[in-house]
Order: sequence, then structure tokens, then C-alpha cells
Amino acid sequence: MYFVAILLSIAGAPIDADVVISNATIHDGAGNPSIHGDLAIKGSRIVAIGKFEVSADATVIDASGLIVAPGFIDLHNHSDRPITQAETRLNKNYITQGVTTIVTGNCGGGRADVGVYLDQIDKNGAGTNVAHLIPQGAVRREVIGSEKRPATPAELAQMKTLFDQAMQSGAWGMSTGLIYVPSKYADTTELVELAKVVGKHNGIYVSHMRNENTRLLESIDETLAIGEQASLPVHISHFKASGRAAWGLAADAVHKVQAARDAGRQVTADQYPYIASSTSLGAMVVPDEYRTTIKFTAALKDERDGANLRQKIERSIETRSGGASLFVASYSENRGWQGRDLASLAKEQDRSVLDLVIEIQSNGGAAMVNFGMQEEEVRLIMQQPFVAVASDGGAKVPNDTVPHPRNYGTFPRRIGHYAIERGIVTLEQAIRSATGLPADILGMKERGYLKPGNVADLVVFDPKAFRDTATFQQPHQYATGVRYLFVNGQLVIDQGEVTGKLAGRALRHKP
Ligand SMILES: [Zn+2]
Repeated sequence: MYFVAILLSIAGAPIDADVVISNATIHDGAGNPSIHGDLAIKGSRIVAIGKFEVSADATVIDASGLIVAPGFIDLHNHSDRPITQAETRLNKNYITQGVTTIVTGNCGGGRADVGVYLDQIDKNGAGTNVAHLIPQGAVRREVIGSEKRPATPAELAQMKTLFDQAMQSGAWGMSTGLIYVPSKYADTTELVELAKVVGKHNGIYVSHMRNENTRLLESIDETLAIGEQASLPVHISHFKASGRAAWGLAADAVHKVQAARDAGRQVTADQYPYIASSTSLGAMVVPDEYRTTIKFTAALKDERDGANLRQKIERSIETRSGGASLFVASYSENRGWQGRDLASLAKEQDRSVLDLVIEIQSNGGAAMVNFGMQEEEVRLIMQQPFVAVASDGGAKVPNDTVPHPRNYGTFPRRIGHYAIERGIVTLEQAIRSATGLPADILGMKERGYLKPGNVADLVVFDPKAFRDTATFQQPHQYATGVRYLFVNGQLVIDQGEVTGKLAGRALRHKP
């Protein structure tokens, strides 16, 4: 119905366009059945969709056999640092996935100086657009440090002022990372007070919840409570049941979110389509009071503290298949360990896994990949209409580390592998989960949907070739199949080749 209306409104009048993408299969981002037709761009905007006459000087791209969709929006990205650095700001591992906008400031970490950060992106350019969330942990660190205690009334007031300023500078909401220091030292009441400031500016609350393991359901309750008490939409980051002990909880977790939605609450989630997660070794197995290298090494020198620490780490390793599910992604002290799991490394060296963990943490830590999810549960979550696809990765260039393949493959994996190849979700739903849905979650106008007047952020891909090629063993591999990518109307990928154009800009939320 939607496209019919557009078609009628523009029939007959020749369209003044710079570029026409013709003979395409057009997916609008709303999840509607695709239509066959043309799409015209003038400057940075979409000016027509359907069948129409165009001005003679327009460049025509023949998109026979190709799909045109809104450019993908990655709700969960950690490129705060690399997007401002010369080597990585092109964001090649994301544009090759069809991504045109990333959202940074996630998991409570990243740039707290929102205005400065966004100005920096506009000044230097980026391969994709960048929207930002206020990282609650980073703000707390600025005001309170890394201490484990409630905020004083004065500190809370100061954080609220910083949140207010950040929202006025263009943040789309706030994020928490409630397994990380110092984000996790905020209790629910403190988070509600900060979320109220965000809600006042029509922002959202986004959370890496306190527990994704056996206390997954309680964590969802906390998230919902914050939404209710602060009157704002809430969003669950990288939704999953993680760790063997949590297997089987995904269905209950989905049910809980659906029940809240049915009761009229605004709650959504995102997911990266893999059975492994990735974060620091410290966040995975070290109690929070010993996370810094200084506190860690000091504890080891103390008899009682040391025994306590060792015992807790051992218990944690136990729940992760004795270290067999824990793979070293990046460890600068010993690059030979990258790509290897802790159990086999320990065996090879005739040492205990605990011993390896102590060595790594004493040397400043390592990034890890943890195989902690069940494929069936990953699929169940993927099938929910409120779950957007998002990477939880960051801008990278190939090197000798062995990071999670989600950095290079999230979007083609959801759309190419899971939808087109496996049929786990429909193609329309998979595209919606990367476009209209994340735009709606953010409250972002003019992007995420193909319609005249919207910004020309769009991807043209070959459904037969759009696939993730990054694997857990060989993660630094670009996705295939994106033929054209427009960011703000400019060609960032042209005939499958990256142009190098830094057409992205900072996207500021306007309350
Ligand atoms: Zn996270």
C-alpha cells in the first residue's frame, strides 16, 4: 500500500535526479514484501521510488538481480576510539557489511565528552555515520572514580548535570555495562535518576545487563523497572543466555520481554548472530574488586586475599568448560597464544589454567572469545520481531590478533546466512532488523526506511553473494556481496570497490 501511494503521487512528472538505481528489488525497511522498480537520489536525499521518468543527465545504475535496502544501522558498536583514528576511521569492516550508521558509547564505556567527540567526527569524517549514547560508566568514573560505593547526593547531581549536557549535545540516550567497573557500582536507584534526565530529552536506556547467566531474568526485571520508574524506552544489548548454567533460559527471557511489550511497555533488544561472546578476560573470570593490574598483583601477594582470588577464578574457569571455551583474541605480551584456548594451552605447557589466567592478568589482561551460547537459543532470539541485529564490534584493520568475527560479518551473517541461506527468518524481517527497527528504537527520523525525502543511506547487494567470510579462526576477512553503498548520497562502495570517501557524519539527536 505504501509504495502504491508513492507511485501514484509521482506518476507522470519527470524526476530531477543525480543517480537512478534501476530494475532493483526494493526492500523498504518496514518488513513489507519487496517491490520491483527504481530508486532516484538527488544530493543527499531519496527523491523517488517505484516507476517514474527521470531527467536525462542522471547516472543510471543497473541493479538487475540486486537488492536495494536502507543502509544498515549498527545499534551496538564500540568504535569510539577507532572511528576518530586515521587508520580505522573509514570503517571498512562495516561498510563492506552494508552498514551506514554505527552507534557508539555502548556497555557504559566510551567517550563521555559527547559534544567534543561528535564535532571531531564531523571535522575528520568517517566511513559511516556515527550516533552516540552517553556511557554511564565513563561518566561515573569521571565523577566518582572506580570506587565501589553509592554516589553521594552531590555526585549524583553532578552526573545528572553531565547527562543533561550530553543529551543537549546530541546523545540518543544512555548505556550501562553492569558487569564492568565502575558502571556496575551504580544501583538501580542511581540508574533511575540518570535515566530520568535521559527520558526528559526523549532518549533511550540501553543496557548490558548485570547478569546474562543464571540471573538473566532478574536482570531483565531491573531493566524493565528502570524503564517504568524513569518513563523511557529500554533496550537490552546483545540479548542472550550466556554460559552452560543459563542454557534453557532464553525462552523465558523472550517471554518476559514479550509480556512487557504486550502490556504496552517500550522494550526492545539487539543480538549478534553467533554462539560466542567476546570481552576482556578480567570481566569474564576476575571478581570486580581485583580487575585492575595493581589490585590483582597486590591481592596475590596477600595470603588471604590471594587464596580468595584464586578460588574465585578457579570457580569461574570451571563454569567455562575448564577454559576450553575461552579463546585468546588479543594478548600483546604473547601473540603466540592468540587464537588458542586456555585449556589446551595449559595442557601443552603442563600448567594449570589458573596459572595462565594469573600470568595474563598480571601482564595487563587480554581480550577473549568465549563459546557460551546455544545455537537453538541464538535462533530463537533472532526470530523475535523486537530484536535488531547489532555487532558489538568495532572498526578494525587486519592484523595478527584473532578477534570475534562479528566485527566483519554480523550483518551478512544475519541476512545472507541465516535468512537467505537457512530461512531461519524471512529476508524482509532480517532486513527490517538492520534498518527500520534500529531506527525506530533510536527514534531516528529520515533513515532506516526507503521513502522519498529520507536521507540516501542505502545499500545495494547481491543476495547470492552477500555472505560473511570471517570465521573464528580467520576473522579478519571482509564480507562479500555489497555492490554499492551510499552514505548521505555519496558512493562509499562503487561496483564492489571501496572508494575511500569519508561521507559519514555525526548524527545528533534532537529532542
Ligand atoms: Zn556489552
